[in-house]
Amino acid sequence: MTTAAAALQPIFIGGTWRLGRGAPVPSVNPVDGSVNATFAGADANDVGEAVERGRTAMADSVWRHMLPHERARILRRIGDGLAAETESLALLQLRDNGKPLYETRGLVISASNTFHFFAAALETLESEVTPARGAFLTMTTYQPLGVVGAITPWNSPIASEAQKVAPALAAGCAVVLKPSELTPLLALELGRIAQAAGLPDGLLSVVPGTGSVAGAALVAHPDVRKISFTGGTETGRAIARVAADKLMPVTLELGGKSPTIVFADADPELAINGVLFGIFSSQGQSCIAGSRLFVERSIYPAFVEQLVARTKQLQVGDPLDPRTHLGPLISEPQRAKVESYVELARSEGGRVLCGGRRPAGEAFARGTFYEPTIIDGLSNRSRVCQEEIFGPVLAVMPFESEADVIEQANDTVYGLACGIWTGDYKRAWRVGTAIAAGTLWINTYKQFSISTPFAGVKASGLGVEKGRTGIRSYQQEQSVYWGLDERPNPWANVP
Ligand code: NAD
Repeated sequence: MTTAAAALQPIFIGGTWRLGRGAPVPSVNPVDGSVNATFAGADANDVGEAVERGRTAMADSVWRHMLPHERARILRRIGDGLAAETESLALLQLRDNGKPLYETRGLVISASNTFHFFAAALETLESEVTPARGAFLTMTTYQPLGVVGAITPWNSPIASEAQKVAPALAAGCAVVLKPSELTPLLALELGRIAQAAGLPDGLLSVVPGTGSVAGAALVAHPDVRKISFTGGTETGRAIARVAADKLMPVTLELGGKSPTIVFADADPELAINGVLFGIFSSQGQSCIAGSRLFVERSIYPAFVEQLVARTKQLQVGDPLDPRTHLGPLISEPQRAKVESYVELARSEGGRVLCGGRRPAGEAFARGTFYEPTIIDGLSNRSRVCQEEIFGPVLAVMPFESEADVIEQANDTVYGLACGIWTGDYKRAWRVGTAIAAGTLWINTYKQFSISTPFAGVKASGLGVEKGRTGIRSYQQEQSVYWGLDERPNPWANVP
């Protein structure tokens, strides 16, 4: 344990850095199990204090009367602050969650761009004057919902945090951010950068803590007017139940088991590279991982053989090494979960074509590494093909026809994403639009743009994030009827 890790570190509550009163929250480097830092995590009282400080800050006339372009200036400064520290933040995140440096760098850049994007959206979004049906002017204006809670997972910190914090602040809300207890570092850095950018105290609090204590307290707090949640489907359901009682809106970005479909007429090089990136980048710990691969029967043996050969060339190793494709998994329990699914696949009759084990050697001894794994011989109905593994495990299956692959791809509780590789653009459209998925990639995979809305269907989520109107989900419409009639309402006249 390092010296820094030995002393408890403060968290960010209402503009003040102080020790939380909850359980300690350590950030562990999954490369070797060393502790980066340990934070004094938030308990329910700390969360309550953060909410109260948020309410006070929102009520303050400085924030309430700040014009959109002035608020946008603060958001841009936060974006600039993130960009200025890209390298150090990327290294910090690498130590917090084990992703290779090129990925963590990309996440920091994405977070910075998100603040710039929502600054631009804030300055340019318009309210509406609606067609009046009487002697009045009718308008729809947008008011901030109030204090909102943002709850995030560990797999893409900073980027998923910016995706919630930037539009919520743009909307005029105060935000209490509860990052995953496994990856607290970058959310707290965001708090520091926002404070330095001049965000008034109380508008952003960062309260790392456990889900069952800090997370649950945030969701249940009577003054929290919305929860934006990214995480597992079961946690999302639990949050939605509490929200139903409070009649509180939620945005839920949940799990997935996304299909990738390769037709015989696909460009094989493009398809293989896309499939590999789609499942094995981020060590497969990605909600939109293309974890079920359907390959047209006529090319199945040759395509799978090539895919396996290419997978065996992927480098598992130190995320600091630029040659590394896959770093360690986030934690020992996560690796144990992946291992148990591979064992299940074997017991269900699956053939492990590559991987299926921890890499051997001294360099891997203390980290939570796992080899990229391809399994065939399973039915789409098997548990391995139906349940989210959230690790570097790909199930491959042949298909016979468009109708067959549409049915199999849709045969899942999830509906997050779908990838299609084909040279026939009409077929891509026909098949793609028949599959229930919030995001459809055609001849590409796992590409994102902050200006494009993101949502899951079925058990993959509720509500939309990103896009220019992403700000609106943190606001409520207010309809204004502005009377223009010179004559009094005749109703009260005596006949
Ligand atoms: P998780 O559901 O275990 O935890 C997510 C967050 O919720 C954490 O901050 C956790 O502390 C908190 N939490 C847990 N219980 C809570 C409760 N009762 N009340 C309030 N908060 C609570 O998920 P995870 O393991 O951190 O992340 C992996 C999951 O996230 C996967 O299922 C993945 O697909 C999903 N994910 C989805 C998206 C998307 O955009 N759809 C993106 C990334 C990850």
